[in-house]
Order: sequence, then structure tokens, then C-alpha cells
Amino acid sequence: MLRAKNNKSGKEFFSWNIDDYRFIIKNKNDFICPVCKSELIFVDGIQVVKHFRHKVKIDCDFEPESEEHIEMKLFMKDFLNLKDKEIEVHLRFAKPDLLIMDKMIAIEVQKSNITKRKFLDRCYNYTKNGIAVMWIFHDSLLKEDNKNQNIPILLRCAAEHGCGRIYIYSEKKIYSIRFNMLSRWIDEYEDYKNKEVYGGYLKQYKKKKSIQVIQEIPDEIYGKKIYKVWTKGGRKNEYKSGGYYIAKFYDI
Ligand SMILES: [Zn+2]
Repeated sequence: MLRAKNNKSGKEFFSWNIDDYRFIIKNKNDFICPVCKSELIFVDGIQVVKHFRHKVKIDCDFEPESEEHIEMKLFMKDFLNLKDKEIEVHLRFAKPDLLIMDKMIAIEVQKSNITKRKFLDRCYNYTKNGIAVMWIFHDSLLKEDNKNQNIPILLRCAAEHGCGRIYIYSEKKIYSIRFNMLSRWIDEYEDYKNKEVYGGYLKQYKKKKSIQVIQEIPDEIYGKKIYKVWTKGGRKNEYKSGGYYIAKFYDI
């Protein structure tokens, strides 16, 4: 995790702000988890992102978490230029990894597999409390050898239930994915003044939906993909799914 509290003063610390060793040594026995209040250690390495870890393994909302998970959180913080207080937020009903407070959009960063049930529960929980949710899935979850994960199913759930939106994180880039109406080109011929006139129209299927990628996805990700995409530009500033709007301008 990226946030810790001083046990004595109650002051909060963010790992990315810590760069003074005297400070670390002075505080090292006083860092506690703001959620479960157990002791934390500060991890600082050359190859690892600075973060806090529970000293003793414990069942806490913010643990266990992988290095990639921490990196993604930090990436999203910088990407969206979020404030310190928007990181690892403790709401009464949820603990989002990040929360864009002025827009009330929660960001859930996902590196490990998540069940459909858990995914939907969290989506509903946010939605009923008036918060939109963006999921950022690490691209390793799209790998073919990852049998447990099925992002298209989760994506379909999110679209059908009108809550939540999924993005893919790949090598420090965010790609947005969404459902769109599936349509098919219908050819039409007509005789007009003895000449055959060629035309047609796009027929939209009311029930079938396809996955739409709003922006171009590089080949490296296509290689890992387990579903087909259909590309076309979407509306600029918002996204509507089941009557539920979510900002789109955060896409790159
Ligand atoms: Zn904890």
C-alpha cells in the first residue's frame, strides 16, 4: 500500500513523498495501516516502487498486493494527476484504490483474477452509492494461459448491468474497451432507369453486442487477446451504459 499513518501523531504519510532516511529510521516502528491499524514496514528498493507492507501477514483490504498492483496505482495517480487524499480511500462502503473525488469515479486496479460475483458486487456497491467505477485490468490477465480470467465475461456483465467500465493497462498505457451495438452491412440493389444502382445500409442488432475498442490497440496486445474487437470512434466526453454515464475523456 502507498498510505500509512503514524501511530503516535495520527499523521498520514504517502510512500512516494518519503525520501529521507533519517525520517524512515525515526518513524519505522510507528507506521500503521489506516485500515486495520496493524504495523507496517516501509519498503524501498532500487527496482521496487516505494510502498508499505504489513509486518505480519494479515487479512486486510489492502493486502496482499503485488508490486504490479502498486505500480498501477501509482501510474494512475500520475496519469490522472490525482491528489494524495484520492489514493487508497476509505469510504464507508468501499475502499477504492483511487477515487477521483470531484467526479466521484472510483478506480479499481486489478492485477489478480477476480470472480464475476465479486466484480458485480463491487460494481453494484459503487453504483448504488452514486459512484461510477473504472476497472483497470493488467494485460497479463489477457494471457491465454490465464485460464481463470475471462475479461469478456466481466465486460459483458458490466455492460449488461450498466455499471462499471473496463480498461486495459499495458506497458504504461491505458486502453479503453466497451460494448457497442453490433451491426451488419445489408446490400441492396435497385434498378433505376435500366441501370443497377448499388447501395445498402447498416442494420443494428438490438440484442447482440460487440466489444468495441475506442482507440487503436497495438499488436502486442492483440497477441494476448482472447476476443475479437471492432473499432470505431465513439462519443467524445461521455459514455452511456444502461442509463449510466461515465467520463470518457480520461482515455488516452
Ligand atoms: Zn491493514
